[in-house]
Amino acid sequence: MNTIIIVGGGVAGLALAAALDPQRWRVTLIEQRPVPTDVGTAFGIWPVAQRALAFLGLGDWLTAECVRVTDGAIRQADNKPIVQMRGVDMALVSRPELLRALDAAVPASVERVKRRVEDPRDLSGDVVVAADGARSRVRAAIWGDTATPVGTWAVRGVLPRPAEVIDMAEYWGGRVLFGISPASAHMTNWYATIRHDPGPPEAALDALRQTHRDFPAPVRRVLAEAEAGRTLVNRILISPLTRRLVRGRHVLIGDAAHAMSPSLGRGACEALVDAVALAHELNRRDPETGLRAYQRQRLIPGQAVRTAASVALRLQEAGPRVHRLLATLG
Ligand SMILES: Cc1cc2nc3c(=O)[nH]c(=O)nc-3n(C[C@H](O)[C@H](O)[C@H](O)COP(=O)(O)OP(=O)(O)OC[C@H]3O[C@@H](n4cnc5c(N)ncnc54)[C@H](O)[C@@H]3O)c2cc1C
Repeated sequence: MNTIIIVGGGVAGLALAAALDPQRWRVTLIEQRPVPTDVGTAFGIWPVAQRALAFLGLGDWLTAECVRVTDGAIRQADNKPIVQMRGVDMALVSRPELLRALDAAVPASVERVKRRVEDPRDLSGDVVVAADGARSRVRAAIWGDTATPVGTWAVRGVLPRPAEVIDMAEYWGGRVLFGISPASAHMTNWYATIRHDPGPPEAALDALRQTHRDFPAPVRRVLAEAEAGRTLVNRILISPLTRRLVRGRHVLIGDAAHAMSPSLGRGACEALVDAVALAHELNRRDPETGLRAYQRQRLIPGQAVRTAASVALRLQEAGPRVHRLLATLG
């Protein structure tokens, strides 16, 4: 039997561990966090990733847990529309719930190790998978590069009350944004950007109340109610483009392969698709051929989405003149 070591038990690592055939692979999953810690913010799951979840046997779970969104709009801060979205099929699902469902789908045969990998060159295994996120140690050690921060921070959170919007509402004003959507029937999900280090959640909320004070009333209401304990702050990190997802027995999946701006809500979706594609190839081929097949399938799509998300971030931060131009283009 071949051996595979997965570094990182986030969306990508758990999905891969769940999808590998235990008859063919002896799987070790190494995760540094003793328990998953997360505020229950929502992930937007696009159809391509809904199919990946169905492959993992989680299609019915998703249908039961998610809030479906079909329409949405990006508006200027004065409420004039920039882009209208109609007939999309996005499933909003709680991030901790998704992690729990993926975790439960991992077979008992997978060996779980709780530790931080410092030097991935010490790891044995026919295949070593970098599923260790944007600041991947495996990528740094084997590829020699790492994601770099841009000058934007993402702040997001949830409120324990139904959302005032039934779809997705995103407002662009100045060079920052604010988004509101349902997180479930009883919860509101919100996210914002800010262009200086806002500090810890409490300070970040104070900063947002200033930077977004001219945004529409629903935004101001969300910010007035938001609490530090239900708020997360992340600096946006973007991976360098890569031409190779595979180096010898090492392979990149998820944010380790393509950390991207959250502007399109696609990072976790791409992580799921990577994991399922890699497992599908490794379950039916020898390791070397399987890794090559995975790279052929996933290199261009993953790098393209990462680049498109950077373009979306630039457009959003280009300011009101560009937003007005986009609005005229429809
Ligand atoms: C504000 C914001 C909003 C977002 N919204 C969406 C959305 O709506 N839809 C969407 O699809 N995506 C979204 N994303 C992106 C999504 O969060 C990521 O793309 C996704 O979590 C990547 O999963 P991953 O498993 O590759 O990495 P991670 O989730 O970062 O998981 C990596 C895991 O590896 C572990 N690890 C790291 N280093 C080591 C080590 N050395 N040793 C052992 N373990 C290690 C970590 O503890 C972690 O558990 C959003 C991101 C942000 C910041």
